[in-house]
Amino acid sequence: MDKKDKSRDRGYKRRDFINNGVRLALGVSVVGTAAFTLQRSATGKDYVWQIDPFKCTQCGRCATECVKAESAVKCVHAYALCGYCDLCGGYFKPGAKLETGAENQLCPTAAIQRRFIEEPYFEYVIDEELCIGCGKCVKGCSAFGNGSLHLQIRHDLCLNCNQCLIASNCPSDAIGRVPADEPYMIKGDFIVKEES
Ligand code: SF4
Ligand code: SF4
Ligand code: SF4
Repeated sequence: MDKKDKSRDRGYKRRDFINNGVRLALGVSVVGTAAFTLQRSATGKDYVWQIDPFKCTQCGRCATECVKAESAVKCVHAYALCGYCDLCGGYFKPGAKLETGAENQLCPTAAIQRRFIEEPYFEYVIDEELCIGCGKCVKGCSAFGNGSLHLQIRHDLCLNCNQCLIASNCPSDAIGRVPADEPYMIKGDFIVKEES
């Protein structure tokens, strides 16, 4: 394989990988919403609580204010926006070595897995079992990266309380009701809609 072929091959692999990633990220939106009691408006439309990722300031309250012992808020990844950076602002503490040791990781629960894809790209995957929704990685990604990491209320975990306690305590008014048939505000999805 000559140099040009190698480059094309590398481009294809990354594009293919990203496309798969987009499907994975948007796959969150098809998680069932049937497990909770839907809030019905006067017009008969059902609503659920969701975080507007463009308003959220990652204050940390999503991790502590949910009525559930384990917050229904998790970090999601809009792979379409991710730079697959070697030096990921959502993964590494500022000034840390580029090593995966726990002391270099920003996430307090080591919920982010870093995987080598091909030079110079790395994939970052959130382990939702470990994620507590603290938003630290989101802040780092927003400050130093493309902002592909963001917080969402997972509707397979949320009780859809009449009044979301996190929404009541959110300093940015970032949580509101959205139609149940479009229950997520995935950043990548917004980009796709704006471009089409
Ligand atoms: S409480 Fe509001 S500002 Fe704070 S992390 Fe949650 S959504 Fe973001
Ligand atoms: S830093 Fe916080 S929000 Fe991000 S993956 Fe870790 S626990 Fe989840
Ligand atoms: S509606 Fe209730 S269960 Fe859902 S995120 Fe808000 S406080 Fe947690």
